[in-house]
Amino acid sequence: MSTTAENYYAYDEEFRNNIVTVDAQGKRVWVYAKKPKGPFHNKRIVISIFLLVLFFAGPFLKWNNRPFLLFNIFERKFILFGHVFWPQDFFLLAITAITFFVFIILFTVAFGRIWCGWACPQTLFMEMVFRKIEYWIEGNANNQRRLNKQTWGVRKIGRKVTKHAVFILVSILIAHVAMSYLIGIDRVKEIILQSPAEHWSGFIGLLLFTAIFYGVFAWFREQACVVVCPYGRLQSVLLVKDSIVVAYDWLRGEPRGKRKNDQATISEKQGDCIDCKLCVHVCPTGIDIRNGTQLECVNCTACIDACDDVMVKIEKPKGLIRYSSFNAIKEGKQKLLTPRTIGYSVVLAVLLGLLSFFILTRADIETTILKAPGTLYTKTDDGKITNLYMIEFLNKTFEDIPLTLKMESPQAATLMKVGDPNIVVPKEGILRGVVMVKLPEDSITGTKTVIELGIYRNGELITTAKAKFIGPIKKPRTLN
Ligand code: SF4
Ligand code: SF4
Repeated sequence: MSTTAENYYAYDEEFRNNIVTVDAQGKRVWVYAKKPKGPFHNKRIVISIFLLVLFFAGPFLKWNNRPFLLFNIFERKFILFGHVFWPQDFFLLAITAITFFVFIILFTVAFGRIWCGWACPQTLFMEMVFRKIEYWIEGNANNQRRLNKQTWGVRKIGRKVTKHAVFILVSILIAHVAMSYLIGIDRVKEIILQSPAEHWSGFIGLLLFTAIFYGVFAWFREQACVVVCPYGRLQSVLLVKDSIVVAYDWLRGEPRGKRKNDQATISEKQGDCIDCKLCVHVCPTGIDIRNGTQLECVNCTACIDACDDVMVKIEKPKGLIRYSSFNAIKEGKQKLLTPRTIGYSVVLAVLLGLLSFFILTRADIETTILKAPGTLYTKTDDGKITNLYMIEFLNKTFEDIPLTLKMESPQAATLMKVGDPNIVVPKEGILRGVVMVKLPEDSITGTKTVIELGIYRNGELITTAKAKFIGPIKKPRTLN
C-alpha cells in the first residue's frame, strides 16, 4: 500500500508491538543518542541549570530555623514551605496529593509531557548531567559506539574508568542531597562527619541511594521512563487528540523520501521529510517520532531541533516536528478548552478551595483525651465520682505554647491536673499528662456522661476536647 499523507496513520501500527530498546531475543539495544543542539536545547539548558541549583540548594533553605522542604517518611513528619505536617494532618497531605494528581492530569491533557522534557529529575539528570559527562569523556554517539566495539586497551580502560568514576561521584552528591530532603541536612552532615558505626542506617541508606542513582543513570537510563515510571505508563489514558505534544506533521512530511543530488528542488509530490533520520539519531529513547505519539517519547525536543536544522538546510519552513496536537495537525486548529480540560479545571478549583480552607483553619494545637487504660471510676469520701484521663497535646508550631485547661461542661464538674500544674507544650513536640475529673453522683446521667474540656491559650479558647465519663449504674426504683 502506498503511503500518502492522508492515509499515513492508517497503514502501519506494527511499531507499537515492540520496544525499540529491546531486540527480538529480549536483549537490551543500547541507545547512542547523537548530541542535541539548537534553540530548544539551549532553553532547556537554562531551565535545567535553574532547577539543578534549586535542587542542590533546597536542603540548605531554612524557614524559622527549620527546613523549607522536608519529607521525613521515617518519622512521618513533613515540612512544606516552612509548614510542619504531622501524621494527624494525614488527611491534609492526602488532599494535597489528590490536588497535585488532578493538576498533573489536567496539565497532561492540555500540554502532554512537558513535565518529562523540561522538569522531571530523571530527564534532567540523565540528559543534562550524565549524558553531558559522557559526551565530554567519550565523545559523540559514533565515537561512543566505536569505543564500545574496541577491544580493551589503555585508551578504552582510561575513558571507561574516568567516566564511571565521575558518574559515581555525581551519584554520591545526588544521594546526599536526596537524603537531605528525607532526614534534613543537619542529620546528613552528622552522618558525613561521624563514624559510620554511629549511623549505620543512615550510612547504608546513602550507599543504597548512590547505587540506585548510579545504576539508573549509568545503565538503566531511558528504561526508567519506558518501563518503570507510572506517569509514563499513564500517558496512554491521559493523552487525548488535542493534547499538545512533540509531534511530526505527517501531512506536510509525507510521502517522505531522500533528496536526489541532481534534484534542484524536492519534487512536488514528495513531502518535506527527506528521511535523513536525524530525528531518530538524536532521540534519547531511540524512537522514530514520525510513527506518531509514543509512550517512550519524553518530549525532550531534541528531534525538533534536529529537524529544524535540516529544514533550514533544505530551505523549507521549520516546524515539521513541533509542539502540536494530532487534531491541530489534522484540522489546522488547536483547541485548549475542551469538555475534558474544563471538567478537570472545575475539580481542581474545588480541591484547591478545600485545601486552602483546611490549611487556613488548621489548629496549632491538637488535643487527644482518652480514659486512662485499665481504670473505671472511683468514689470519694464526699460522695463524688472521679475518672482519670490521659491527655496529649501536639504542638504543630515552631514555638513553645503555654496552655490552661478548664471544664466547659457539665457545670458541676471539677478538673485537677495530676503532677506539674503548668502546661507548656514544646515546639514541634508532644506533651502527655494525666487529669482527673470529679462529678457529683447525681450529675451522672446513664452509664456514660460526656465531659468537655476547654483548652485556652493566653486566656483565649483555642479548642475543646470531649471524653466519656463513667459512673455507677443507677438501679431502677422498684415498688414494694
Ligand atoms: S529530521 Fe526531519 S527530515 Fe529528517 S527524517 Fe526526521 S522528520 Fe524527516
Ligand atoms: S521523539 Fe523527540 S521529543 Fe520524543 S524523546 Fe525522542 S527526541 Fe525527544
